[in-house]
Amino acid sequence: MTPDLDPSTVVVHAGRPERVPNAPVGESPVFSSTYVAGGDRGYGRFGNDAWTALEETLGALEGGRALTFASGMAAAAALIDLIPVGGRVVAPQHAYSGVLALLDQQAATGRLKVDRVDIADTDAAVQAVDGADMLWIESPTNPAMEVADIPALAAAGRAAGATVVVDNTFATPLLQQPLRLGADVVMHSATKFIAGHSDVLLGAVVTADDDLWSAIDLRRRSLGAVPGPMEAWLALRGLRTLALRLERAQSNAAFLAERLRAHPRVSRVRYPGLPDDPGHDRAAAQMSGFGAILAFELGGDATGAQKVCESTKLWVHATSLGGVESMLERRRRWPIEVPTIPEDLIRLSVGIEHPDDLWADLEQALNAGI
Ligand SMILES: *Cc1c(COP(=O)(O)O)cnc(C)c1O
Repeated sequence: MTPDLDPSTVVVHAGRPERVPNAPVGESPVFSSTYVAGGDRGYGRFGNDAWTALEETLGALEGGRALTFASGMAAAAALIDLIPVGGRVVAPQHAYSGVLALLDQQAATGRLKVDRVDIADTDAAVQAVDGADMLWIESPTNPAMEVADIPALAAAGRAAGATVVVDNTFATPLLQQPLRLGADVVMHSATKFIAGHSDVLLGAVVTADDDLWSAIDLRRRSLGAVPGPMEAWLALRGLRTLALRLERAQSNAAFLAERLRAHPRVSRVRYPGLPDDPGHDRAAAQMSGFGAILAFELGGDATGAQKVCESTKLWVHATSLGGVESMLERRRRWPIEVPTIPEDLIRLSVGIEHPDDLWADLEQALNAGI
């Protein structure tokens, strides 16, 4: 494709079959576990047309070559498997709880060592990365909404010889391209904004380094956490409208952040789009938008926060994020959530509904049971 197309055009047109007479406009899933001998495909664990189309699209957006996985955690596990036995990874204090729990499990068995740092504290992260094998970045972080200085951390990580990974799930490939900011590998839970309709589990990694790509491909083949053809096809179908979905969800999020901040029950709103948010300047420098996730607190009231989550009628009280339907949850209801996440923090995944309807429902939930 033409290299200077806007990402919102690339997301629509990348990964399509060649335009020859009678060709379909988009790739279809092929439901076959094996292929007739003599070609390069061989077996369903090694490749699939629906993966290839999705991978070409994600690769074009992020500026590298993609590999899709059965889930975001499968993608994360394949990357963590790159760390040599006994090696050390520097990871954020706050990040997706499943990734942090996996690192803790592997540290407990002696497979690797983990050092956790406040990823927004660039000096602390740069110091910790000296001698490390991997630097795991997430930005903005789930669910604390901290913003890491990706260019500075990537430069320090690479200078230290560490593989620099960025979990780009919250930002999406449309708002942030970590490879272009110096990272070695990008990871996505494509379950979220990329697929976008809360109907599929899927993960992806993207890298511009061919050796790294081969090492990750080897792990996908041998660890076997491959996506199904139908899941890959659904994710690509969802991805085609990401630019439109994000535009609406993001403007809804900015509107709700302001409304929440003005509400007397809310003690803190965490959204990098707010000009006085601690991550605002960094996010403005490295992202082309502030995204559609935000979090707020009620000032120490876990029971009250739980009640808010249980009082919405339009917002879905559920975990996960990035779907067209708005969702909320109190993250600490999960035992594996990091204990320094406030008990009363509510994470909002803002969808594409009308902003007035979203606020009316949130406001009645906030006012319920005071
Ligand atoms: C959901 C999520 C994951 C895990 O992805 P799954 O598709 O649920 O396995 C990883 N990182 C972040 C930031 C997430 O939100």
